[in-house]
Amino acid sequence: MEDSRQKLYISMYHYTRDLKHSRYPGIKGLDIPLFRQQLDFFRDNFNVVTMEQVIDSAEGRSRLPDNALLLTFDDGYADNYTYALPLLEEYGFQGSFFIPGKTFAEHRLLDVNKIHYILAAADHKKLAADLKEKMDRYRGAEYDFPPTDELWAQYGIDGRFEGAEPTFVKRMLQTVLPERLRNIISSELFEKYMGVSEEVLAYELYMTEDMIRTLRRHGMFIGLHGYDHYWLGNLPEDKMREDIEKALSVMDEFIDRDRWVMNYPYGSYNDGVLSFIRQKGACIGLTTEVRVADLAADKPLELPRLDCNDFPPKSENYKKDGVIYEKK
Ligand SMILES: [Zn+2]
Repeated sequence: MEDSRQKLYISMYHYTRDLKHSRYPGIKGLDIPLFRQQLDFFRDNFNVVTMEQVIDSAEGRSRLPDNALLLTFDDGYADNYTYALPLLEEYGFQGSFFIPGKTFAEHRLLDVNKIHYILAAADHKKLAADLKEKMDRYRGAEYDFPPTDELWAQYGIDGRFEGAEPTFVKRMLQTVLPERLRNIISSELFEKYMGVSEEVLAYELYMTEDMIRTLRRHGMFIGLHGYDHYWLGNLPEDKMREDIEKALSVMDEFIDRDRWVMNYPYGSYNDGVLSFIRQKGACIGLTTEVRVADLAADKPLELPRLDCNDFPPKSENYKKDGVIYEKK
């Protein structure tokens, strides 16, 4: 019997750089020699497809080849342009790049990156202790949130590829603490642990509009990743809509407004997000649920992905059936 499934392996990348020769070797990225090995593996074992092929299959106009694989790059890092683009061209593969609007429209550091860099520069135990002390200092009339012990018990747990302290620091500063306070504490910690200004790092870290334009000229696909890189599923409806509208407006040149692709920051979305982006012309949505997608069964706006660490030379997780990892 013919297999009615349309399996699609989606590999997710963030930083792609020559880690040993980079300023912050502690940053969690895919080292370029390993990326090349991975592309060799894909060339020999998979059919790398384009986003246009995925859209056509999701809309029933065609079928994907067997062992279809899609390459996705989140957050708009300049190292994707410097290191990944030349390799993708060499192998003849398309990459899909999902770029938060703020990174190139304002050249301002996203909180998510501030936190990555602090984690790369600081001792994790000391950093977590520092953060807890600040939380206790700021808790009071202006900022209200649960006791530090309670939050540590809930969020101080091992993450997928890291320990309890970095997971705790990320959760507190990405979503748990009140937004204004998150900005204040992130900036304080950034100043304490990093020897560079936020502005200089932002220019160093993200692609410029010219680079994004160049990606497109070289056949790459560009999609949405919010404006401010918020947890969209946790935002009030009006703020969620505002963030997506802003992203659509600065990304206008790079996307097809009638058929664009959404990549939810942190994999966070809810029914309100889904119905809003559908009404705005989104046709595909990428989540961070960790398993192989099936275009015949999965909803097009909720496709699961795998991490690049789920493939050789890092691991063989991609062979597993069903959900590979559940976010706590
Ligand atoms: Zn992201």
